[in-house]
Amino acid sequence: MSATAAPLDPLAPAADAEAEARHSNTFLRLKKKLERSVGEAIGDYGMIGDGDTVMVCISGGKDSYTLLSCLLALRERAPVDFRIVAMNLDQKQPGFPDDVLPGYFESIGVEYRIVTEDTYSIVKDKIPEGKTTCSLCSRLRRGIIYRTAKEIGATRIALGHHRDDILETLFLNMFFGGKIKAMPPKLVSDDGNHVVIRPLAYCTEADITRFARAMDFPIIPCNLCGSQENAQRKQIKAMLQGWARDFPGRIESLATSLKNVVPSHLADSRLFDFAGLTQQTRVEEGDTAFDPIDLPPLPTAQTIQFPSPVRTDA
Ligand code: SF4
Repeated sequence: MSATAAPLDPLAPAADAEAEARHSNTFLRLKKKLERSVGEAIGDYGMIGDGDTVMVCISGGKDSYTLLSCLLALRERAPVDFRIVAMNLDQKQPGFPDDVLPGYFESIGVEYRIVTEDTYSIVKDKIPEGKTTCSLCSRLRRGIIYRTAKEIGATRIALGHHRDDILETLFLNMFFGGKIKAMPPKLVSDDGNHVVIRPLAYCTEADITRFARAMDFPIIPCNLCGSQENAQRKQIKAMLQGWARDFPGRIESLATSLKNVVPSHLADSRLFDFAGLTQQTRVEEGDTAFDPIDLPPLPTAQTIQFPSPVRTDA
């Protein structure tokens, strides 16, 4: 399969219109909103400090371009001084346009590192045809990313996962893994050597898509490896998009709930000492044994309609 950098979608506006769009008030508001959300996430989770070197992983997709753009903009006005190095791993997938990212990085004047490792052949060699290749592929990629971070002295590795990726992961883990677990905005690698951050944790995919389209980033297709998007993740995405359409505010509430976990009102005795609970224990969030849960009223459009009573005297 051959591929060159393609626009985000075939219906995207032409280049002139995009350039014009970049000066519109709507675009400037969107840019400000994304940068504010990234700044908030960085502040809330202490993602970046003075003297950090942040290696920003760039795949060539809309999310990682947006991440890099926001971080560069924020660095201009941040009260702390930090270094940004854009990093791309060329996995030698067929048709990967290896001139696109170096050209882009040079055009915006950011320091960068391209790492070329043929993980594609390794994965094809090791995994039988028809089996899913993503888990070996990501394991190999993770090892290379960590090694590169060490080589360039990165103290932070920034990934482009956004709010909707995080919520999809939450539901994937609940539906198929029996766990309440999402993607953390900040984590330390298993070997304790790397801190991984997700500065887009508060940004919605819809905003990122609009921003990437207006910026006319040279998007590289994400299906070069020939692997299909995980079918279960696709279903969850569709479920969340349906909720966003039918129940305004639900997705925002879900995202907020990740920041308001009440272990005493779940059932994990590793997080809360249920066995040791006595009359003397003080419990966060109070007693809800008998109280109704305090929920906001349904919006008028969703008020449940009860059927009219059936007449029996006819
Ligand atoms: S989709 Fe392709 S590139 Fe991405 S993890 Fe799976 S095999 Fe690797």
